[in-house]
Amino acid sequence: MSDLRLYNTYTRTVEEFHPLHDKNVGLYVCGPTVYGPPHLGHVRGPVVFDVLRRYMEFQGLKVRHVRNITDVGHLVGDGDEGEDKLSKQARLEQVEPMEIAQAYTLAYNDMCRMMNTLPPSIEPRASGHILEQIGMIEAIINAGLAYEANGSVYFDVLTYAKTHDYGKLSGRVLEDLIAGAGNEARELEGQGEKRNPNDFALWKKAAPEHIMQWNSPWGTGYPGWHIECSAMSRKYLGDIFDIHGGGMDLLFPHHESEIAQSTACTGHNPARFWIHHNMITINGQKMAKSLNNGIRVDELFAGNHPLLEQAYSPMTLRFFILQAHYRGTLDFSNEALQASDKGLQRLLNAAAQVKKLPVSDIGEYAVSDIWNNCVQSMNEDLNTPQVIAQLFEAARVCNQAADEKLKLDRENVELLGRLFDTWLLGILGIKAEEKGHESALDGVMQLLLTMRAEAKTNKNYALSDEIRNKLTALGFTIKDGKDGSSWSL
Ligand SMILES: [Zn+2]
Repeated sequence: MSDLRLYNTYTRTVEEFHPLHDKNVGLYVCGPTVYGPPHLGHVRGPVVFDVLRRYMEFQGLKVRHVRNITDVGHLVGDGDEGEDKLSKQARLEQVEPMEIAQAYTLAYNDMCRMMNTLPPSIEPRASGHILEQIGMIEAIINAGLAYEANGSVYFDVLTYAKTHDYGKLSGRVLEDLIAGAGNEARELEGQGEKRNPNDFALWKKAAPEHIMQWNSPWGTGYPGWHIECSAMSRKYLGDIFDIHGGGMDLLFPHHESEIAQSTACTGHNPARFWIHHNMITINGQKMAKSLNNGIRVDELFAGNHPLLEQAYSPMTLRFFILQAHYRGTLDFSNEALQASDKGLQRLLNAAAQVKKLPVSDIGEYAVSDIWNNCVQSMNEDLNTPQVIAQLFEAARVCNQAADEKLKLDRENVELLGRLFDTWLLGILGIKAEEKGHESALDGVMQLLLTMRAEAKTNKNYALSDEIRNKLTALGFTIKDGKDGSSWSL
């Protein structure tokens, strides 16, 4: 592997990346909790880790990409209290929890497909790995780092912290957590079972009315939210694997707990690299139910949300995401999306134009410089905005060559073509979008209506009637008005 360097949240430094096993990379990314339709907040992670994967594969590495589906155990409020998010939604929609999981898993995967992200190699579900989770919980109990209380099992944070650096990943200090949790604990039910308010659930006893429950050594219940990722990453990628990824919102408690669980089981941090992408804000504000600014991706693609001035295509959204570095915040606004759309069209136009460029005997520009800069930018912690800046430089070169203001020899014209193919389409994963069937249909209809008007002017009524009748037979309605004809289907 060339000199890829990635920011490791765990060490807070940019480190050289080398796979643990030859040319094989194990990548685990926390997937969605499938209890609602995908919104803007869901879209950055899949795109960021897709580009990482595509770049590694471009460099000759083989990536096993595991992305889980959380369909049980994630409680409302992200802590150990409250209803299961899926069960709650199932109750509201009056269906089975697994119908909720199925519907929103499909919706999430549809979104990923539209965003042109490669499907994960394995997509394990939490509910399909209950035995693995129970096995891991037993191991943690045997290690003396978890305890049973009234049919539930909790991770013993204080005992663990005596010998391990709990809080290292998220930068939390245990003393502060204890002080904070003390205040919270008084208000929350169920805290009485815990030895310490910071302990988190590995297994929760299910009340009889709880819809999703399984047998376990501690009675019927369901797993805590964090244990699924420890169990499934271990099952498919081993005790230590290359990269664990997710959004920054998962640093605490989710990823901090994962590290504690895996360490309690195997003796070490499960991932060499912890990689986190930043979040999307909307017009400078965090997305929140209370602000009513959560835009669903289908609303974005259709343009039907009060905050949207128009519809935006999946590739415009993908390009917009990659125009920011993955660790920086990304602020969504109509202006920014419109600028991304324009920029992307400029690049796609240049990519289409390359094939028609005049070839000169003399070369006045070395496209290889742009290529090398792209490699360097990606190697420096996936700097996609810099790659895009290089592609704009390539578009400029392309336009100048088209206007014959710059001479390119055959080798450089060909390299320019490969540059767009490899970097814009291959690694950044942009695909040319069909420009709406609707506008094409409208063009054809306008053509037919013009021909019909001409036939009428030439008194060729047989032809004008034939056009009208055949269109009517196909289901079109033609209206003749003062300003010409219009159509509807
Ligand atoms: Zn996870």
